[in-house]
Amino acid sequence: MRIDCHCHIFDNDCVPLSGMLASRFGVAVGKRAAKLISDLKGGRLDGSLRDYFREVSIDPGAVLNSMIDPQEKDNFLFILKHLSNFPAFLKIGAMDMPWILNRMKHDSPGVDIWVPLMMDMTHAYPGSQPAISFETQREVMTRLTLEAKGRVMPFFAFDPRSGPADPVEKAKTAIETQGFVGIKLYPPLGYKPVGNDDPKVEDALMRLYRYCCSNENNLIPITVHCSWSAGVYSNEHVPGVTHIKTYYRNFARPSYWRNVLQKFPKLKLNLAHFGGLGEWEALSKGNAPRENWVEPILGLIKDHDNVYTDLSYHGIPTTDLAEGYKRVLIERINGLEHKVLLGSDWYMSRMQCTLDDYWKGFETLLSDLFYKMTGENAIAFLKSEATTKFFPRFFYSNQSMILDQYQNLF
Ligand SMILES: [Zn+2]
Repeated sequence: MRIDCHCHIFDNDCVPLSGMLASRFGVAVGKRAAKLISDLKGGRLDGSLRDYFREVSIDPGAVLNSMIDPQEKDNFLFILKHLSNFPAFLKIGAMDMPWILNRMKHDSPGVDIWVPLMMDMTHAYPGSQPAISFETQREVMTRLTLEAKGRVMPFFAFDPRSGPADPVEKAKTAIETQGFVGIKLYPPLGYKPVGNDDPKVEDALMRLYRYCCSNENNLIPITVHCSWSAGVYSNEHVPGVTHIKTYYRNFARPSYWRNVLQKFPKLKLNLAHFGGLGEWEALSKGNAPRENWVEPILGLIKDHDNVYTDLSYHGIPTTDLAEGYKRVLIERINGLEHKVLLGSDWYMSRMQCTLDDYWKGFETLLSDLFYKMTGENAIAFLKSEATTKFFPRFFYSNQSMILDQYQNLF
């Protein structure tokens, strides 16, 4: 059994494009790029430039740094280095969710089950909203899950700021009746895993963790973005903060999870990306990374039975750094091989290589570990009350069923 523990099928309509690109490349470039992308589809463009300047912060140093620093993976330099992949990546996002799922299935023939992680970017960028609501994205995901008969097991995106319905109640409904088998968190979109000033945000997170731990032997898994070198982050203005990118990116720091795990030591958690591509490329070359999140993540997976990490968006096996990567990875995870998962991070990783090459790269380079990561480790991580009880019940109550070979996996 091969399981892709971390992939995505949301399309451009699920992303507030102008806000996201403005946060990454600055307002002027971001707005124009968003217009270009939405024009490609004959779509809409929201917000006005004036509103942007009022509500968001710009960090020129971060924008400049992101253009020249090779460890940054969300920048012009990275795009220039992968210029041949960029149009293919853009094309996928311009298609719709069913198309993206089909293409992913087609391009990864060795994979049996996919775990697409939703994104809720509704609260990340002031004045910029996705073309479709998060609830519409959720409905499409539920329908695609039902049609896939057990081969698609999605994670529900939780944002403690979402409303008007209580975010924890929404998450419970998603897990118990809408086909979702875990929770996805993305703190750089504007909240910390713990220690938020807003008591409502803090309370929603604590109740979520409590819910995920409520059945001690069947914990609901959470996958959280845990990388500094790649990803997206809010640009909402914070009084007194000039380095806005650093400020929000630090919300993903592993140290927050040490605090959460003190309160909820059983929490089943995947600290996704293992620090990230930029960090692992530096390590593979024998260089010191600018930030080191690998060691604190290792500490957490060592100290807590239910904490994992994943190698998603790690397209390094397809590059000439493959052997270096293998050496530093094997050395680091020695004795912890059962705590490492593998995800393609499709279609974000289309910026690095094709999906087929991503899988082949890992299978060839790491063979035994590859089978462990996509097999028994993934099953151990996904085994929960959601997969054993709610997921089968979701099919039954919708007059459908899971294909024979995917039943009783958990
Ligand atoms: Zn991802």
